[in-house]
Amino acid sequence: VIEISQVTTSFGDHIVHAGLDLDVRRAEIFALIGGSGSGKSTLLREMILLHRPDSGSIRVLGTDLHGIGDDETLALRRRYGVMFQQGGLFGSLTVAENVGLPLREHTDLPDTLIDEIAALKIAMTGLAPEAGLQYPSELSGGMMKRASLARALALDPELLFLDEPTAGLDPESAAGVDVLVRKLRDMFGLTIVMITHDLDLLWQVADRVAVLAEGKVQGIGSMVELEHMDNPAIRQFFDGPR
Ligand code: ATP
Ligand code: MG
Repeated sequence: VIEISQVTTSFGDHIVHAGLDLDVRRAEIFALIGGSGSGKSTLLREMILLHRPDSGSIRVLGTDLHGIGDDETLALRRRYGVMFQQGGLFGSLTVAENVGLPLREHTDLPDTLIDEIAALKIAMTGLAPEAGLQYPSELSGGMMKRASLARALALDPELLFLDEPTAGLDPESAAGVDVLVRKLRDMFGLTIVMITHDLDLLWQVADRVAVLAEGKVQGIGSMVELEHMDNPAIRQFFDGPR
C-alpha cells in the first residue's frame, strides 16, 4: 500500500532522512516509532503530500508521489484520512460540521445526506449523537481524538494516518482508542499507519513497527521481534526512560 525507497530529506544542513526504506502492507496496523526529532512526523507529512523529500521514491496506494499532478493529488487525498496530533478541528464549527467538511469539499452530496453520514461516523467512533452539536473547545481530550478520527473517516478512506492517537489521554481513554483502531482494521480492512510513543498501544494493536533513528529504519517487525533485536537504537526504546 505504501512503498518508500531511499528517501532523503534535509532541512538546511540537518539531515533527517538518509536513504530510508519502508513498506506498509494492506490492512495492517503499522507503527512508526523513534526518538524526538528522528523524523517521524516529517515522514508522515511526506506520505500525505505536505512535504517533498529531496530524493528517493514514495508510492502511496499505487501512485508515485514524485511529480504528481493536481488532479491525481486530489484523487489520492480522497482515499486516505489523517488524524493530526493536535486534532486539527476547526474551533468555529461543531463536531458534526467538522466531520461533514471533507464531504462538502470532495463530494456533491446534498446537505441532508452529509449530515447523516457525519452522524454515522460520529457514532462509529463511539461518541454520543449529542457530541455532534458540541464545539471542539467543549470536548475532553478523548472526545476530541474521536471527533478528529470521525472526520478522518468521513470519506471512507482505505488508508488512515494517525499522529500520536493516544498522546495526552488518560489510560482509560487511551485503551478506548486501542480498541477503536483495531476495530477499524478488523471490521473495515483499513490500513493504518500511526506514530506513537505509547507502548501499550504498540503492544495491543501494532502488527509491525519500524524504529527510526539516524535517518534510517533501524529495524522493522512485530514488537516481539523488535524486543529481541540487539540494535542499540531499538534497545534504547525498550530499556529507555520512556
Ligand atoms: P517528535 O517525536 O518530537 O514529534 P519527530 O520524529 O516527529 O519528533 P520531526 O518532526 O519529523 O521529528 O523532525 C525531524 C527533524 O527535522 C527535527 O530536528 C526538526 O527540528 C526538523 N524539522 C522538521 N520540520 C522542519 C522544518 N519545517 N524546518 C526545519 N526543520 C524541520
Ligand atoms: Mg512528530
